[in-house]
Amino acid sequence: MRMPKRRDRSLSHLAPSLSAHASSQVSDPDFDPVHGAILAPILRPRVPGTEGHTRVQEHFAAFVRTHLHPSWRIEWHNTTATTPATGKEPVPFRNLILRRDPPWRTAQVEGQGKEEGNVARLTLAAHYDSLYQPEGFIGAVDSAVPCALLLYVARAVDAALTRRWESRTEDDVGLEDEDELDKGVQILLLDGEEAWVEWTDTDSLYGSRALAETWANTAYKPGSRFSTPLEAISLFVLLDLLGAPEPTVPSYFPKTHWAYRGLGRVEARLRKLGLLETKPRAPFLGDTSKEAVQFRGYVLDDHIPFMRRGVDVLHIIPSPFPAVWHTMDDDAEHLDLPTIRDWARIMTGFVAEWMDLEGYLTEPGAEPESGQDEKDEL
Ligand SMILES: [Zn+2]
Repeated sequence: MRMPKRRDRSLSHLAPSLSAHASSQVSDPDFDPVHGAILAPILRPRVPGTEGHTRVQEHFAAFVRTHLHPSWRIEWHNTTATTPATGKEPVPFRNLILRRDPPWRTAQVEGQGKEEGNVARLTLAAHYDSLYQPEGFIGAVDSAVPCALLLYVARAVDAALTRRWESRTEDDVGLEDEDELDKGVQILLLDGEEAWVEWTDTDSLYGSRALAETWANTAYKPGSRFSTPLEAISLFVLLDLLGAPEPTVPSYFPKTHWAYRGLGRVEARLRKLGLLETKPRAPFLGDTSKEAVQFRGYVLDDHIPFMRRGVDVLHIIPSPFPAVWHTMDDDAEHLDLPTIRDWARIMTGFVAEWMDLEGYLTEPGAEPESGQDEKDEL
């Protein structure tokens, strides 16, 4: 893994686009936990195999059809497993994969199959199942809000991706590395993260274990840039336990500390520009100057089956966990909406930077994207 070659350029040019985008979204009602279009439908018990679980799946699919570009591919990865709480009857687990690749890689090339083995995908993940016990548990931060954030980000960058890819030729003349263009984005809404009785290697991560195994054993056509969908993951960004006030998210892995720092720079830039609502005692991402020797331990979560197979992981989970974690208080009332909206802005900025969307986030002519003060550059 490496940073995109155009990173320096995008860092200096992204701020104006982000400003225009972030300020236009300040009163965005998407995250209203009662009436909002994205989060509210997820805030219900959604134990695998129950009706609430099915309703949330329908919400995800309807959101994609209604709000995202038709080129997004929707794929369900279905599996079943027995759990220690439910006896011999297998429980259905369904991971939802939402994927958008550059248009020149999605066409079927005659006689050669699809070109999908040539796209490196920024992979954003969160789990949508909720705890089996206590009954009625909502799991607002765990992980309804992270799922909502990912849907929000997909919609926030969608039109810019279209514009970016349509202008490929004029923008990229002279670019040294064609591979830099073959970047896609995919969102994994994972199922069965929670343990049903007590966390063990087999009672947890039902969906992510199955998906990582399937992808490790799926071969792209010979001669592709990547040999499997697993290898095509450029970075696995896992969001969990977000939505409570004053989060502090450590950098967990030396190998991806560079990506953590990139995310921290987006937060710092948005704060400096006055585009975030919260005024926390410490930044959400405060570990940007961490030395390698200070990395200590990590949290077991959906990244594990991928990380074990060599995938680079950025884990966005606060430490300590929110006080409401795995209690009946993890509900809509205990969410902090300014914190959620700030996470939406930070993650949008990160994805926009990764996908080289500077200059494409607003409609042409809608907002000034040039001539802005560049002294704010970090
Ligand atoms: Zn949990």
